[in-house]
Amino acid sequence: MSSLPKTMKAVLIEKTGGTDVLQYKTDVPVPELKEGEVLVKNEFIGINYIDTYFRSGVYPPPSYPYILGREGSGTVAAVGPNAPSDLSVGTRVAYMGQYAYAEYVPVASNYTIPIPDSIDTKTAAASLLQALTALTLIREAHPVKKGDWILVTAAAGGVGLWLCQLLKAVGARTIATASTEEKRALAKENGAEVLLEYHEEDRDVFVKKVLEITGSEGVRAVFDSVGKSTFDSSLSVVARKGSMVSFGNASGPVTGFALARLSAKNVRLVRPTLFNYIATREELKEAAEELWKFIEKDGLNVKIHKVYPLSDIVQATQDIEGRKTTGKLVLTP
Ligand code: NDP
Repeated sequence: MSSLPKTMKAVLIEKTGGTDVLQYKTDVPVPELKEGEVLVKNEFIGINYIDTYFRSGVYPPPSYPYILGREGSGTVAAVGPNAPSDLSVGTRVAYMGQYAYAEYVPVASNYTIPIPDSIDTKTAAASLLQALTALTLIREAHPVKKGDWILVTAAAGGVGLWLCQLLKAVGARTIATASTEEKRALAKENGAEVLLEYHEEDRDVFVKKVLEITGSEGVRAVFDSVGKSTFDSSLSVVARKGSMVSFGNASGPVTGFALARLSAKNVRLVRPTLFNYIATREELKEAAEELWKFIEKDGLNVKIHKVYPLSDIVQATQDIEGRKTTGKLVLTP
């Protein structure tokens, strides 16, 4: 590690709260490596909505000061003891993990993979976490079949646009919800077949529309990332023996749910996280290879909303929390 600097730029928090707790620093110690880790010099850092949960306290940070951020891409700058041989110094990699809002990130090799030559470094950082989330949702949370009607909420967001594209690629039919006309049009460009408003003020209108579209049956699965404000209407439109997949809390966590409601249609309720579908290096490689194929062969791609300098983290965070963004937000250190 002798050629590495001693300090680096990073965004950290010392307590949870609003965007005022975000601290951009230029003198944070470059991290030491543990067994099996590699140090990545970030070129691009992916912003994910989950970063806002750790900042606000919806999910508690493990310790303070806490460097936010869960994915990025760049080159391996140093390797820790027993890191795999395909992660040598200089290798171009993408990773998921913690502490990504920084110049240098210590990442577990389980969550780090070389980027194929055909994928550029920015695309890798902009895709990995959200696209693999979408992929594991359609493969594992509810194995989607050709012809299935599926409801996707926040369909013009990062995960949402991947879901629209992947569902189209596997032959499913997507009903997409998003908050504005512009967002819904983008979901359509990315493969959604039917576009709906949330109809939060009148859930019956929403339910009636979905039942009309699906021949009274409802959808085989809902992939709902909005949480609190949409959970009830999403559950109401799941078909008998279908799946209610709740995978996010953008409007707040779902609480106080009576399990007995599921028996009305024998609905499967799933509350997954990506990191429990991908827990080993083999699982990461398998999923990433399938993703790279979708990008290379089927032309799936990521819409990058904007690339922000790391020092603009407050603006970037306000943009995603203010529902002003579509697709992916990326930072450069
Ligand atoms: P997005 O780009 O989708 O941004 C969040 C979107 O949520 C907004 O654009 C907005 O779209 C929608 N939204 C609805 N209600 C609100 C609200 N009250 N405040 C703010 N936004 C709201 O983010 P990501 O793609 O990074 O993540 C999408 C969701 O998926 C998040 O809930 C995230 O936690 C979850 N997720 C879960 C994972 C898992 O493993 N379980 C992994 C990755 C992401 P609109 O205006 O159209 O409603």
